[in-house]
Amino acid sequence: MVKKRYILALDEGTTSARAVVYDCKSDSIIASVNTPIDLIYRQSGWVEQDARDLWGAQFGALNEVIAKSGVSLDDVNGLGITNQRETVLLWDKKTGIPLGNAIVWQCRRTAEFCNRLKERGLGDYIRKKTGLVIDAYFSASKIKWILDNTEGARERAKRGELCCGTVDSYLIYRLTEGAVHVTDVTNASRTMLMDINTLRWDRELLELFDIPEGILPRIVHSDATVGETTVLNKPIKICGIAGDQQAALFGQNCFDKGSAKNTYGTGCFILMNTGDEVCLSDNSLVSTVAWVVDNKPTYALEGSVFNAGSSVQWLRDSLGLISSSAESEAMARLAVCADKSLGSDGVYVVPAFTGLGAPYWNQAARGIIVGITRNTNKYHIIRATLESMAYSTKDVISLMESDTCCKMRGLCVDGGACKNDFLMQFQADILNAEVVRPSVTESTVLGAVYLSGLASGVFASMEDIAKHRSVDRVFRPQEDIDRQKLYRGWKRAVARSLDWAIGEADS
Ligand code: ADP
Repeated sequence: MVKKRYILALDEGTTSARAVVYDCKSDSIIASVNTPIDLIYRQSGWVEQDARDLWGAQFGALNEVIAKSGVSLDDVNGLGITNQRETVLLWDKKTGIPLGNAIVWQCRRTAEFCNRLKERGLGDYIRKKTGLVIDAYFSASKIKWILDNTEGARERAKRGELCCGTVDSYLIYRLTEGAVHVTDVTNASRTMLMDINTLRWDRELLELFDIPEGILPRIVHSDATVGETTVLNKPIKICGIAGDQQAALFGQNCFDKGSAKNTYGTGCFILMNTGDEVCLSDNSLVSTVAWVVDNKPTYALEGSVFNAGSSVQWLRDSLGLISSSAESEAMARLAVCADKSLGSDGVYVVPAFTGLGAPYWNQAARGIIVGITRNTNKYHIIRATLESMAYSTKDVISLMESDTCCKMRGLCVDGGACKNDFLMQFQADILNAEVVRPSVTESTVLGAVYLSGLASGVFASMEDIAKHRSVDRVFRPQEDIDRQKLYRGWKRAVARSLDWAIGEADS
């Protein structure tokens, strides 16, 4: 196969649609266009998007990035896709017109229905089949809601007039002008309708959620070539698809069991490769398909921290202690800490603004600052806030290690706050593991590029991809750190934040 020079990739996120041109010769993104997308809040707890806007923004970004880069489409190998997961919609099979808005992953409208499933004791059953915890977050209850609440939808679904899909599925349908209705296996693994072992839609689950199988897309592998799209009168192969977090794991080249990535954004998203067998969590973490490449499935455990970068924004916007997120690094280094074993001079910040997730699962927890003495100044508070991100990450990784009985083999990092060298060093120290920051930290879109390159023959194998990745910096754990003592301090601080919001009257 003749290798062409470029790969196109789409990254349809929650707040923006991105398109990039990747140059396989220089191993770099040479052009990128980001188009914002609005979220719609019609009722408290409801989050929607107009699917026509998703498509318009994404198709516009694709055309724009091609024009901006000046590349010839004759020189493009293929188009890869990554996307926000769980968000789901139904559309008319003939016209492609959506039946109302897409329901976004954040939407809580089906929380009560999910609670009823939990009350019926279905938690274990669903976890074993899907790897997921029953929650409104996943697509199944959202699809049921659309079918139940859109006039005529059920009848039309039964008559075979409708298609259903996550965002990858809808984009492919539109890109192929209705010729192809598929979804990739990583996206399917977030619907709560796919059996994570067989990688097929599950009849019993479809019955439970009252969803006719006929509306669902065909499940394809992450390195599949699914069809062709026409851009500026030229055909381009659509190949390589994965949900955003799985794409980031792939983009970070976490190909071996035990390798993990953390995205430090508003929250932290941590995924660990658990190899070729499903590893079900004893600790309420979610098991998911990482990818299916070369017909071989790879699985991952996934956990998240609700408040990470948001705590740095809080320092900036609410406390006014820093003028930019980046400034937190220099300020943290100004904290005078005579005794290394006390971290930020004994100060801990637990940013439990909205409660705590894994492993505490305490919705009534609230943020606290503890360990303050007459010596404490703003630098200690800033430093302790950065440290809290590293401790929370350790909390999740420890659970993953106990679920898999395998030690994490280094942490690959991306997301806004991974630029903070102080935080990255502290993360390595607390984990007692290497923290690896790649040169290109746009791992999500890179994952789509790599999958597309694999599908179109640009890369011969995953080993070959790894040769194209370059590392910016490796943070190695320092020897003279009493990490156990520091972490014990964190645990004590967290214990004091739990149940705070239950209030005086109830305590
Ligand atoms: P998201 O995609 O969740 O919006 P990003 O990956 O863009 O997040 O990361 C932005 C977050 O990272 C913000 O919360 C910001 O406060 C934090 N952040 C950005 N740069 C730094 C830095 N140098 N040090 C610490 N935090 C940072």
